[in-house]
Amino acid sequence: MNTTNNIPRDGANVSAWQNNVAPLTADIENTHALTYDCLIVGGGITGLTAALLLQNAGKKTILADANRIGFGTTGGTSAHINTFADTTYTEAESAFGEEGAQLFADAVREGFDLIQSNVNNYKIACDYEIKPGFLYAETDDEVEQLRDIYDGALKVKVAVHYSKDVPTPVPYKKALVFDEQAQFDPIKYLYALCKEYVNAGGVIKENMLIQGLETKDGVHTAGNIRAKNVIYATHMPPNINVFNFECAPYRSYVIAVKLKGDKYPDALIYDSQEPYHYLRTHFINGQYLLLVGGNDHKTGHDDPEKAFAELEKYIRKYYRVSSVKYKWSSQYYIPVDGLPYIGKQPLAADGIYCATGYNGNGMMLGSVAAKILSDLVQGKNNRYADLFNPARVKPIDGFTEFVKENADVAYHFVADRFNFKETDSLKRLQPGTGKLVEVDGEKIAAYRDDEGNIHALSPVCTHAACIVNWNGEEKTWDCPCHGARYDIDGNVLTGPATRNLSKIEQ
Ligand SMILES: Cc1cc2nc3c(=O)[nH]c(=O)nc-3n(C[C@H](O)[C@H](O)[C@H](O)COP(=O)(O)OP(=O)(O)OC[C@H]3O[C@@H](n4cnc5c(N)ncnc54)[C@H](O)[C@@H]3O)c2cc1C
Repeated sequence: MNTTNNIPRDGANVSAWQNNVAPLTADIENTHALTYDCLIVGGGITGLTAALLLQNAGKKTILADANRIGFGTTGGTSAHINTFADTTYTEAESAFGEEGAQLFADAVREGFDLIQSNVNNYKIACDYEIKPGFLYAETDDEVEQLRDIYDGALKVKVAVHYSKDVPTPVPYKKALVFDEQAQFDPIKYLYALCKEYVNAGGVIKENMLIQGLETKDGVHTAGNIRAKNVIYATHMPPNINVFNFECAPYRSYVIAVKLKGDKYPDALIYDSQEPYHYLRTHFINGQYLLLVGGNDHKTGHDDPEKAFAELEKYIRKYYRVSSVKYKWSSQYYIPVDGLPYIGKQPLAADGIYCATGYNGNGMMLGSVAAKILSDLVQGKNNRYADLFNPARVKPIDGFTEFVKENADVAYHFVADRFNFKETDSLKRLQPGTGKLVEVDGEKIAAYRDDEGNIHALSPVCTHAACIVNWNGEEKTWDCPCHGARYDIDGNVLTGPATRNLSKIEQ
């Protein structure tokens, strides 16, 4: 188990939450020849919530994470807890009907309530606070969108009203307020769930990558772990699967700044730009910080340095910044038809479950996914199971952007193979930077470290053989097709890949 107090991240930047977190007290070895009721793969909000629910229900469970608990997006989230979602209730109604939209709203609410009841029941000190959530429009088109959001929310009985008092310096035309939203420190929350889980008899195994499962006579085996059921709470299930065609990976950027003076907004605030900005205030390590997120783009596309630079420029345009305290980026998945996929994993053996495609709403959707999956593992009905069934087939008319996304995967698969720079560029590679180069006819993903050594890797993603791109901000190799990510030595940081990039001997 890692003994430093920072949770290692899936990139070079540490988030405000992953800083200075004591490791879990015990990493209990599985010494018994035991068959668990459930193996939960992934120690983010989905996995820990599911593990605790199942363990409390009397099941024998084990949770394995390839890294430390909180390594994934739950450690890099901005942790707004909302009653609304990126897929608006109007959009949900047009794709899934009135009943579907109502169920979706109920599911978001149930996820919200589950976090709140955990905080209350376990008395979790995770800076949980209730705040109003403002959503504003700056253009006439955005005003129209706001009207849609308002109508859709009222139809599914989510409380919302117009407001003229948004605590923002940005000039806006109209604004909505959703009362009683919430925010918290996701890592404090996660570690408290770990404590409760271990106290209830649950087993946590960190630094254990699950590369695949062998199934025989209804028992799934991964390494020395045997389980009757498996939940992939890995944000994206590993290896090639249907979700590679149904979810697009995106990066989002967060910068936490200290302001000159003490005028921090006491609310969650969102604009309606494309991509949108989201912000809130959090008291971290003895000081107020304004957390501003946005500038999202598809993983492995666009320039992460530019994304951070533009986000910082945006913040400085509207706020008097004294200093930048943290900046980080993380990954999320946009589902093709707007709703998450939660349930039995398609084309997998019986007893294998998964959850993915939360968009930017994984606090609520990850929590409710945990409830749905824990019910399914226990053989219970769950009212949301059909709506979120991963095997559903839905028309994707409303989500034409996604069609473009998949065409783009095919483009990268072919075009990037020819897009290498000239051979002598390896010599010009600056310390601390990476580049795709061709040397003696061999294509290389090359990184020069601060001592001048070259770390040379095959640039072919081990998931589906696309060519990775350099991410200069996180110092990672990111795949533009399905979002797999690797560190400078080729180690997998983010699935769906489970095998490292091959090293090239120089
Ligand atoms: C910048 C940003 C801001 C966001 N802000 C919000 C917000 O304000 N509100 C909101 O609701 N949502 C937000 N989201 C979305 C939300 O953070 C995520 O949806 C959520 O954290 C996903 O949680 P998870 O537990 O499913 O996955 P993760 O937290 O990513 O956990 C998955 C875990 O699985 C492990 N793992 C992966 N593969 C394997 C394997 N093969 N074997 C073993 N372990 C494995 C990883 O190490 C990781 O620890 C945001 C997302 C981003 C990127």
